Amino acid sequence: MSCVYIVPLLELRPQTRQRLCVAIEQQTFWSAELLDVPFDGQFAYDQVREQYHSSQILLGLKNLIKPGTDKILAIVPFDLFIPILTFVYGEAHLDGPAAVVSIYRLRPEFFGLPPAPELVVERLIKESIHELGHTFGLRHCRNRGCVLNASTYVEEIDLKTHEFCAACREEIVRHAGK
Ligand SMILES: [Zn+2]
Ligand SMILES: [Zn+2]
Repeated sequence: MSCVYIVPLLELRPQTRQRLCVAIEQQTFWSAELLDVPFDGQFAYDQVREQYHSSQILLGLKNLIKPGTDKILAIVPFDLFIPILTFVYGEAHLDGPAAVVSIYRLRPEFFGLPPAPELVVERLIKESIHELGHTFGLRHCRNRGCVLNASTYVEEIDLKTHEFCAACREEIVRHAGK
């Protein structure tokens, strides 16, 4: 069975790992498990922007798994960017093996608000499923509740669910068997 390997570059509580794995398994129909590999992403650090280039992280991740069989998702504590944008919550290879999600801007503390660990876990799960959806070949969805709805602001993440809409789910099922 094909597997989604999760590589957290930060401490995740056991309960959070468990919830993330269950959500990924329920939404993608693939199994999900943590992968213990030495990977710190430092090579992707951009000294001028003081952020990490997410596309470079994806290239590094790709080398950690068998191509064509499994997928890999990194969860990072640092701020991510791609050259044309100020920041990204995450990035993924469209119909490819690798995805990355940052919790840097998912924390209320980033906006000077009090910590809300439960909210951060929900946002993390949504963004993880979102990026994995891209690795299954799906593009953004106009359906507001769908996890593949594009989010520019963190409030938009809060408005969507962690689930694919019926149309996206159909696409995922099509890919799940490959
Ligand atoms: Zn997206
Ligand atoms: Zn959808």
